[in-house]
Amino acid sequence: MPTLNITPQMLTGRSQQHLCPFSAQHLAHAQMLDAWLALCKAAMVDGISLQIVSAFRSFERQAAIWQAKCNGQRPVYNLQQQIVDITQLSGLKKLEAIMLYSALPGASRHHWGTELDLYDAAAVSSDYQPQLLTTEYQAGGPFARMDAWLTTNAENFGFFRPYLRYQGGVAAEPWHLSYAPLSQAFLAAFSVETLRQALLAHPIAEQQCVLSELPYLYQHYVENICDLSKQNR
Ligand SMILES: [Zn+2]
Repeated sequence: MPTLNITPQMLTGRSQQHLCPFSAQHLAHAQMLDAWLALCKAAMVDGISLQIVSAFRSFERQAAIWQAKCNGQRPVYNLQQQIVDITQLSGLKKLEAIMLYSALPGASRHHWGTELDLYDAAAVSSDYQPQLLTTEYQAGGPFARMDAWLTTNAENFGFFRPYLRYQGGVAAEPWHLSYAPLSQAFLAAFSVETLRQALLAHPIAEQQCVLSELPYLYQHYVENICDLSKQNR
């Protein structure tokens, strides 16, 4: 792999210079393209058509999602998939309710271009809209076969699933795939201070609370991922 140049802007979703198109709608890290194409080819041999729901996401886009959730304009779910009345929460409790499924702007791994949310287009009709619910990826769900295939094969292509299981912090997201050779370098280059500087330059909803809780949030939602070496359930 060529030398990686990781800037604070790339870490926080404020640069697209390292990206290239992965589909008509999705950008991701150019140095992940070969591994992604190899993964897709191998999956296709087993009858699985890997399709991207979400790849790179900018700080601006994440901030819009964050604001809509803080305002109650976009639903916030708990682990039981019930809607939480966000207007009844404040302070850290409010931030934690949102961060179960939505990253803090500046702190989403999707900013890096090294992450992909996936489904199996071969398992559903062409008009199926993936909901990104764990039930779709569990036994009986349309994407259970893709889930099992990734467990067996993803690592051979350098990929792993940082949110495979819930361990406090971010909820289980079996659809979320990460390219370790790049994302490990991004995480190593990231810091609370880099995140703080991005937020100071681009204030978001609940800014004061976010800044005062930033070391805790960074530890529980950025650093707290499923170990690469423990991906087989
Ligand atoms: Zn994701």
